Amino acid sequence: MTLETALKQYFGFDSFRPLQREIAQAVLDGEDALALLPTGGGKSLCYQLPAMLSPGLTLVVSPLIALMKDQVDALTANGIAATFLNSSIDGDAAAARLAALDRGEYHLLYVAPERIAVPGFLERMRGWNLRHIAVDEAHCVSEWGHDFRPEYRRLTALREAFAGVPVLALTATATERVREDIERFLALRSPTRFVGSFNRPNLRYSVFEKHDAVTQLVSFASARAHESGIVYVSSRNMAADLAVKLTQAGIEARPYHAGLTPQQRTRNQELFIRDEIRVVCATIAFGMGIDKSNVRYVVHYDVPKNLEGYYQETGRAGRDGLPSDCVLFFNGADAAKQRYFIRQMPNVAERTQAERLLRKMLDYAAMPECRRAFLLSYFGEESPYRTCGNCDNCLQAPELVDGTLAAQKLLSCLYRVRAKSGFSTGAHHLVDVLRGATSERMTEWGHDQLSTYGIGKEYTKEQWLALVSELLRAGWIEQEDARRTLFLTSDGLAALREGRSIRFALPRFVKKKRKQKASERVLVAGDDELFERLRELRKRLADAAEIPPYVVFSDATLRSLAAQKPSDAASFLAVSGVGEVKLERYGEAFMATIAEFQAA
Ligand code: ADP
Ligand code: MG
Repeated sequence: MTLETALKQYFGFDSFRPLQREIAQAVLDGEDALALLPTGGGKSLCYQLPAMLSPGLTLVVSPLIALMKDQVDALTANGIAATFLNSSIDGDAAAARLAALDRGEYHLLYVAPERIAVPGFLERMRGWNLRHIAVDEAHCVSEWGHDFRPEYRRLTALREAFAGVPVLALTATATERVREDIERFLALRSPTRFVGSFNRPNLRYSVFEKHDAVTQLVSFASARAHESGIVYVSSRNMAADLAVKLTQAGIEARPYHAGLTPQQRTRNQELFIRDEIRVVCATIAFGMGIDKSNVRYVVHYDVPKNLEGYYQETGRAGRDGLPSDCVLFFNGADAAKQRYFIRQMPNVAERTQAERLLRKMLDYAAMPECRRAFLLSYFGEESPYRTCGNCDNCLQAPELVDGTLAAQKLLSCLYRVRAKSGFSTGAHHLVDVLRGATSERMTEWGHDQLSTYGIGKEYTKEQWLALVSELLRAGWIEQEDARRTLFLTSDGLAALREGRSIRFALPRFVKKKRKQKASERVLVAGDDELFERLRELRKRLADAAEIPPYVVFSDATLRSLAAQKPSDAASFLAVSGVGEVKLERYGEAFMATIAEFQAA
């Protein structure tokens, strides 16, 4: 059987994603290899497909016990014999699985790295005709990665016990140091490195000026009420708070953070994966290894510390290849807050490094050019285009204005307020002074007597606040954390003296749901209503089988079904994502719903 035939038969896909074929071939040829593909690049298939094409067992090492069941369910849904062993299953069930492994009944076995150290496990494995080892999330072996797991170092023992068995290491982490660690600790033998492009064309990157963040988030999520999303925040309280606010607004959301019990976390994750809730509001503790393919948006509610983490987290959107949004809520005050935290770091080397990483993150937030090109070049890849056509800046060039004069007004006003009162104020009051607004405090503090009172009527309040944001980002002013009062930095003072110029983008607000591009519309084909019905059917079937809905069919497959409306086995099988087993299991039910829809 060719790889292409097997791809369609077992997984229902018509073509390989970049490098999948090459990697699978290397595996079949018995070579050691390192596969570096972005999240959503389709890494699992690179070892799953060869496992179906060769006799014997493929052992898959995966870090997260909680997700193994989903991975195995997804394979089982395609009629592939797979199982897992971990601490979550009881003794009887484990004994039954071990016996079946002895009989050679499985193609794939998933284990956590801890299993390698279970007494007798390696011995027992000798009877299983082990053909291949796949190490998923292989960056966990490296301390330089973002997710070091000491247990991964145990894999050396596995390697020694099965010296002749080829190993495929897989990760989405791109840094050279991590790559070298993987090759070293897993003792890969002259491995071929397969390095895919980290570009994710279906992800749309945008930055929204954060001004009334809760309202902005609620309106963004409401415009996508049926879609799944992840909202990353920087604190537990915020995660809990936003989950409540979204739920009150009619969007079922749950928090996920280190302050919850493991049971609560697992439960909330489960609800999300099963499409019982729409949104998870999470601290960074959430997301690695989650295979839910229909996450339609990832919002960063607070500015992340670096682009590495940011890119990793945005990557969890749109694994099915359908258009998805990656949105950063940003304002200068958040930037100032991050800088403040970094200044408290006692270790100079760490502090310098953190500052460097943050600066890049802030550059990304403020840049007026193509964001995708910036991200790709940051990760050492040349962008194939200057404008990608799918980030906010490419879709609508930001209106940059010369803010030099306005900045001078603002800085000198800040200087005078302080000189007069001996204290500073927050951004809102300062802007009121500039715009000549009246308030009780204005007269009480005598700020209406300042020479800078009312000299800034050329901008609206929002526009002034956008400039404040830019000045904070540029580090010309700082914000005291607790009372949010502003003060001039030495850099700002120098900028004022030298008349340094500055440009800033006029505020851009959260837009309603974006219009689809013509190319996307083909995919949707105006059949939203049928899609909704198929989605309901999918949920019912998934619940009955106790598996996540995306395991039945991905959103991409549902979209194709809604567009192509197959009415017989052959045309149903022709849809991408439908393999033989799924045709048999689900074909009838889906075709009945489609026929019903067409008859109505
Ligand atoms: P990764 O582990 O690299 O993040 P996954 O293996 O989880 O990616 O795959 C992401 C999604 O892409 C899954 O929903 C998978 O079914 C789908 N997929 C993988 N290969 C293909 C392909 N060749 N054609 C279409 N979809 C694919
Ligand atoms: Mg994966």
